[in-house]
Amino acid sequence: MWRKAGAGFRDDCFDRWPGVEHCFTSGGQGDMADARDFHGFFRGFQVRRGQRSDVPFSVVGGDRVHGTGVETVRYAPGVRIFGETDGYLTRDPGTALTIMSADCVPVYVVDPDHSVVGLLHAGWRGTVGGILPNALRRMARQFGTKIRRVFVSLGPHARSCCYEVREDTARAFGKYPFALRALADRPGSFRLDLSAVLRSQAMGCGVLPKNFCVAPFCTVHDRRFHSYRRDKTRKRMCALIMKGIGHEKKG
Ligand SMILES: [Zn+2]
Repeated sequence: MWRKAGAGFRDDCFDRWPGVEHCFTSGGQGDMADARDFHGFFRGFQVRRGQRSDVPFSVVGGDRVHGTGVETVRYAPGVRIFGETDGYLTRDPGTALTIMSADCVPVYVVDPDHSVVGLLHAGWRGTVGGILPNALRRMARQFGTKIRRVFVSLGPHARSCCYEVREDTARAFGKYPFALRALADRPGSFRLDLSAVLRSQAMGCGVLPKNFCVAPFCTVHDRRFHSYRRDKTRKRMCALIMKGIGHEKKG
């Protein structure tokens, strides 16, 4: 279950894997699209995790292109930005996968058997284009992941209470009629439930219902979050997942 934890948010389902760190920042932690705010947050994150701030972490992020590309990344000190990628997988400790979002769905993925973590940025284009099935197929191919063992958690995003789309976008979701609700008072407008689409895709790939979680927060109407839809802001939250360094030694 996702909860407020310290300054940000986390899903306590991850507690079963002490070597996996993750979080989603709140609006109060600043604008993660601003390098100074991001570095301040990341330094604090390391310290709270009991890790020395001079350990050369590998931080991976991207310019969101609202695509369906997924990359497997290896540890390398420093910050790396991938241009054409909205999804990352890694098996390397100390490699922080990050995405910036305000309303889009941050999708956290864990394969506990092969110790693989992943993070995807799923707006409506990436969702309908199949970024989650792409990532799951890649995990199976590359790491031998058994999908029924995979855990998928959706962080805070614009939920169906507020996420409104016009007819052209709704048409792209024709395969997912259960995720659309026409608004009686506004012809041609629909409420879209991206989490229902992602759930259906995950189940279709073999993810078990007990291994699929959705944060109960809506970034649009909950003012603890930045929201592009609400404020037309450029400010972003940061989703992060990584395997900690040194966890193996501490046991
Ligand atoms: Zn809402």
